[in-house]
Amino acid sequence: MKIYDTHIHSKNSLDAKSTVDEICQSAILKGVCGITITDHIESYGVGSDAYEFGNSDVLIPQSFKEIAAAQAKYVNKLQIFKGIEFGQPCLSKQTANHVASYGETDFVLASVHADINGNEYYYIDFSKTDYSQVLEGYFAQVLTTAQNAEFDSLAHLTYPLRYIFRDTGVRVDALKSNGVAIARILHTLAIRGKALEVNTSELFRDYGTFLPDEEIVRLFYRLGGKYVTLGSDSHVFGTIGQGFEAAAACLQKAGFGSYVYYANHNPVSVAL
Ligand SMILES: [Zn+2]
Ligand SMILES: [Zn+2]
Repeated sequence: MKIYDTHIHSKNSLDAKSTVDEICQSAILKGVCGITITDHIESYGVGSDAYEFGNSDVLIPQSFKEIAAAQAKYVNKLQIFKGIEFGQPCLSKQTANHVASYGETDFVLASVHADINGNEYYYIDFSKTDYSQVLEGYFAQVLTTAQNAEFDSLAHLTYPLRYIFRDTGVRVDALKSNGVAIARILHTLAIRGKALEVNTSELFRDYGTFLPDEEIVRLFYRLGGKYVTLGSDSHVFGTIGQGFEAAAACLQKAGFGSYVYYANHNPVSVAL
């Protein structure tokens, strides 16, 4: 299969390690066809530190500059697309408007990393927290995002599950506990012609599954979902394209014949 990895962070996300150039060289060595760099822009609720992931006014223009240089340097060797991962796009209209001022992109991933008060799920100790309440809030915010935000693909649906597992060892069956909300999210994506991301980052870690899992991917297809993107969510260049063969098998089982990447916000189909 041809590999187009549409969720990769460069050093211009403060939690990532590789330069855009290192990422490109690694992708070319691996025979990857295309990559989309998606550095973080986060908006938080009132009173929170908006610079948790660094000052995007500095980092995103730098990311875009490095992407443009790489596009020129690796022309005919690798397709390189300009993206962002926009965290909590519905929490601040101001940030959403501001993001547009960074200039044109090919691809916007919408994510929910934090609750509506700006508390990141990563930092919550789920051994001391009622996770069912947290999950309810999470899926409500994702639904609002699916309904209202401007984006191309919804990143790592069920994101808090990996932290619940980290802190409690419990594997929550989200379709059982939050099935109605999940079905509404997937149906909304289908109706709006938005993509669902299958995120492979947990596949080789303790949690060991896609985000979202296979059952949710199957439900997306049954509810009319048309577009799926594949993202390794790489924070170092070594994991680009990781788990994509397994993800392709998961998509085929669900009924999909292809996945997509985005050029200038238009989905481009890749056969499985
Ligand atoms: Zn994310
Ligand atoms: Zn990410």
